[in-house]
Formats: sequence, C-alpha cells, structure tokens
Amino acid sequence: MEEHMKIGFIGLGNMGVPMVKNLIKAGYQVTVYNRNKEKANIFAQEQGIKAIEAPADLLPVADVIISMLSDDDAVKSVYAGEDGIFSASDGKALVVIDMSTVAPETTRALAAQAETASISYIDAPVSGSVKPATDAQLVIMAGGKPEVFEKIKPILLSLGKSATLLGDHGSGNVAKLAINLFLGITIQGLSESVVFAAQHGIEAAALLPLINESAVGSGITKIKTTNIINRDFSPAFALKLLRKDIRLAENMGLQTPAGLTLAKTLQAAIETGFAEEDMVAIFKQVEQGHNK
Ligand code: NAP
Repeated sequence: MEEHMKIGFIGLGNMGVPMVKNLIKAGYQVTVYNRNKEKANIFAQEQGIKAIEAPADLLPVADVIISMLSDDDAVKSVYAGEDGIFSASDGKALVVIDMSTVAPETTRALAAQAETASISYIDAPVSGSVKPATDAQLVIMAGGKPEVFEKIKPILLSLGKSATLLGDHGSGNVAKLAINLFLGITIQGLSESVVFAAQHGIEAAALLPLINESAVGSGITKIKTTNIINRDFSPAFALKLLRKDIRLAENMGLQTPAGLTLAKTLQAAIETGFAEEDMVAIFKQVEQGHNK
C-alpha cells in the first residue's frame, strides 16, 4: 500500500498518540476516533487532522483502520459493537489492524466476523513502550494472511523497526503475551534483587548500575533504573495493563512458578492501589513485602 493510503486510527492513549504522529510523518492521511471525544478533538486540532464521532464513521474515509486500545472489551466494542466498524461495512475492501494486546481467541473471533463483512483482519501487537512508539522503533508481531500482511507491512514499518508475520490470526497475540510474561518476570526478579541488596546495606543507586553493566543487565533493566532510583512510577505502561496481559496468559493455561508469582504480585499491587502507576510499581509491591 502506498503512502497516500487513508488510515483511520482508533485509540489515543499513551501509545496511540505517538503512533498517529508517526503515521502523519510518514505521509499518511489519518483520521482519528477516541472514546473520549474531547481528547480526540484537541489532538486532531493540534495535528491538523480530522476526528470523527463513532468508529463506523471511519469507513468512508479510511482504506485501513488501526486500533490501539486497552483490552479485549474495548477492541470488541469498536469492531463488533453497535456503532462498530463491522456494523457499517459497505463491502469496500478494507484492512483492519488491531495493535492492542488482547487474547488470541478475541482476534480469531473478530477475524471470522470481519471475513463475513469482506474485511481483512490482522493482529499486530507491539513490544516497546512510549519511547519506542515515539521513535518509530516498536517491534511488531503479526498474525493473519500473508498477502494481506505484505500489503500493510509498509504502514507497520512506519511505526516500528521490524514487523514479522508469525502465522495465522492470533499468532501475534501469542508472541506478545509471551514477551510480556518475560517482561513482568524480569521486573519481579529485578525488584527482589534490589530489595535483597537494600536489606543488607547496598542501596538501589549503587546496585542498579552494576546490574546494568553485568551480563544480567538488559534493555528493560536499563530503562527502569532511573524510575526505581528516583521512585518515579508515572505510567508509560500501566500496571493494570500488565495485569490484564498476565491474566490473558493464565486464561490460556499459564501455570509456571515464576508466572504465577508475578500474577500474585500484580494482583496485590492492584489491591494496594498501584493499578494506574507504571508496571515498575511491581518494585514497590515487592518492597512492601506483600509478595510473600
Ligand atoms: P491507554 O493509555 O490506557 O489507552 C487506552 C485507549 O483505549 C484509550 O484511547 C481509551 O480511550 C481506549 N479505550 C479503553 N476502553 C475503551 C472502550 N471500552 N471503548 C473504546 N475505547 C476504549 O493504553 P496504552 O498504554 O496506549 O496501551 C494500548 C494497548 O497497547 C494495550 O493493549 C496495551 O496492553 C498495549 N501496549 C502498551 C504499551 C505501553 O507501554 N503503554 C506497550 C506495548 C503494548 P479513552 O481515552 O476514552 O479512555
């Protein structure tokens, strides 16, 4: 697909906003929808683009629709709900790309519904938070038909550094949940390590640079080091969203010891009141000793 393709974008959250900016930068004509209309109108005005009132209103103005929404219910409502895209499809060739992190089962059900409305469906969730989204450096993993994926790949590459098709509908979602399981376990492990050291006289500010220089340091330990040292838990990736992802994995049969410990920590953190904070608030939860 070419750069004059018209894109409808649904979901102006932490991730959606920088992603839309990159689509505009790449030369696509973008129209946006967001549940909170005021947010959509302010953003559209700033960017010199159009905001519309209901998801289905994107149909006349878009060749491709991208969604970046919180969870399964949100995605189901914009596609299969009352004012949803599928309700109003006029049969014109349309590709929808859902980039949210949702259950593979949700993708498969929506892809089947899309097919009856002559719409092609691709799941294309992303790894990388607000900074990679801003820098168009997301890692994108997709599921769907190869011929459809090839058509929309250039759009994905205007948002990320790579876009990989893994298999049929839902394959992208499986890979994404696997990566977030590792992300959460890594932060759980990092937190336990930092808390252990602090209990024995080595502060986080001394330990974390050593971790980052050693073989156990990683992209995510480096990114979250300043947050832990400065106790800055402002959300880039909200803890409640990671809880949602691990719950999806549990629903798919996840029962590994580290995965279950992570699920317990996340649940306790939500009950403590950390749901809206960044997922690195796992650290505060471990520190408070609620994860025994
Ligand atoms: P966010 O900031 O919470 O934004 C969520 C978006 O979904 C908002 O536009 C919100 O609209 C919309 N929404 C929520 N419920 C809805 C509903 N029932 N109907 C219609 N719209 C609804 O989330 P985010 O951080 O951008 O994350 C979006 C997705 O990407 C999630 O699936 C997340 O797991 C995944 N993800 C996030 C990150 C990250 O670092 N943030 C990284 C990788 C993947 P309102 O403005 O009206 O509330």
